[in-house]
Formats: sequence, C-alpha cells, structure tokens
Amino acid sequence: MTAIYAVLATGLGAIIGSFLNVVIHRIPRDEPLGLFAKTRSCCPSCKGEIAWFDNVPVLSYIYLLGKCRACGWRIPVRYPLVEVSCAALFLLAVLRVDALGWTPAWLAFGVTAAFAAICLAATAIDFEHKILPDELTMRAGPAAGVVGALFVPAIHGTALFRHDLVPTFKPGLASLVVGIAGAAAGAAIIGGIRWVGTLIARREAMGLGDVKFMAMCGLLLGPWGAVLAIMVAMVGGSVLGLLIWAVTRNREIPFGPFLAMGALAVLFYGPAIDHLIFVSYPAWVRGG
Ligand SMILES: [Zn+2]
Repeated sequence: MTAIYAVLATGLGAIIGSFLNVVIHRIPRDEPLGLFAKTRSCCPSCKGEIAWFDNVPVLSYIYLLGKCRACGWRIPVRYPLVEVSCAALFLLAVLRVDALGWTPAWLAFGVTAAFAAICLAATAIDFEHKILPDELTMRAGPAAGVVGALFVPAIHGTALFRHDLVPTFKPGLASLVVGIAGAAAGAAIIGGIRWVGTLIARREAMGLGDVKFMAMCGLLLGPWGAVLAIMVAMVGGSVLGLLIWAVTRNREIPFGPFLAMGALAVLFYGPAIDHLIFVSYPAWVRGG
C-alpha cells in the first residue's frame, strides 16, 4: 500500500472528526444536524460564524490557544481530542484493511472507518450525557453493518458457529445472516447482564442504549465477534473503571465507551484477541 493512502485517510479522519464534534454537540440537544443545509459552523457560546481558517482540525485549536477568536469562550479539549482520535482510527482502518486483505478495499475502508467514527461519537456522547442515542445505534450503525455484511463479507466471514453458510446463500447474504445472529447475540448478552445487574443492584445497571449499541456491533462482528468484544469490554471496563474511580472517585462511569473499545479491538484484531484469550492465556495459566 502506498503511503499516500495512509496520508489521505489520516487527513479525511481529521475532517470527519471535526464534523463528529458537531454531531456530538447537537444530537443530545435534539438540534438538527443540517448536514445538507447551508448552516456555517458557529461558536456555541457567541453564535458567531467561524471562518474557515479558524475551523481547521486540531491546528486551529492550537493557534487559537483553545479559545473562540470572537468571544474568548474556552473550546472544550474534547474538540481536538475527537479530531486526533478520528484521524488515528481512520489511519488504523486503512492499515488493517490492507493487512487483512479485505476487498473491495475502498468499501471495506468506508465501512470500517464509518463504524469507527460512530463508535467514537457514541463514546464522547456517553461520557458527557450518559446516553447512546438511537441516531447512532439504530440508524447510522446498522446502515454501516448491513452494507458491510452484503458487500464486504470478509469482515465477519460467512461461517455461523463453524457452519459455512455459503453453499446455502450467496456470500453477501450468508454474512448478513451471520450479522443478524451477531446482533441477536450482542443484544441477548448485554440484555441478560442488564437484567441480572438490575436485580442485584436494585436499580438500572445499564441503559437500554447499551443493548442497542451491542446489537449494532454484533451486526458487523457476527456472534463470536460480539462475544469477544463484550469480554474485552468487561476486562477493559474493570481495569480502566477502577483507575478512573481511584483518580476521580466517580462511580457513574458509562459502559458504552468500553463496548465501543471492545468492538473496535475485535473489528481490527479479532483473530489475535481470539488466540490470546483461548490459546496463549490458558497456556500461560498452565505454566506452559
Ligand atoms: Zn464565540
């Protein structure tokens, strides 16, 4: 793969990240996204229009020293953070699609980058507002999942619990069946944990948004991928959750960001994680 694709993907990621900041700000406030309307970017504080040269991802934040040029409003650090994260995720997407040989490569990149962007937006919104909005989990996410299943079957394969569905269906339809089983598995597992957790804690342990979010992830990852993603989320959530609690004493840490992290880890490194959990770790426990 030529370096030019890596550079283009990183630049595109920074621009999409800048757009995600608008999505992250507007969806929880029920403001229209105005994707196709002629609404210019404006400062959420003074409502002044932002010139294009003050709207360059990451760089503008640095030379404006994190403040609005007109009113001096302190721009949340979330803005450059989301832009840098999105650029990094798009670079990772282009590298992994190339390494895994998923074809057609441009569509595989489109689907995985879109999924990564949705996970990133969901993470930021869940941290700030403790919700995982339907716009992402029930619309944008499933759209990416269905396109991925139909046109890039290699993303989660066509085998349902070791039974290859291709003799019965075309590859695209077979992987859609696998995806639907994955959505059901993701929703069932998180729904089950939510139900048991609510019984034990006697209050809502996890939101319905987490159930929908995991169904969305299962649609792209398949049932086994959904199981792996939840395992990664549990381990990551326990370790990082304890760390966050130790530093901030904050007990209300949302689970969505960990599910997003698990889903992205499995999307890009599924076989390696599978091997780590079921081969390397048991061998290490046995002292082998
Ligand atoms: Zn302003």
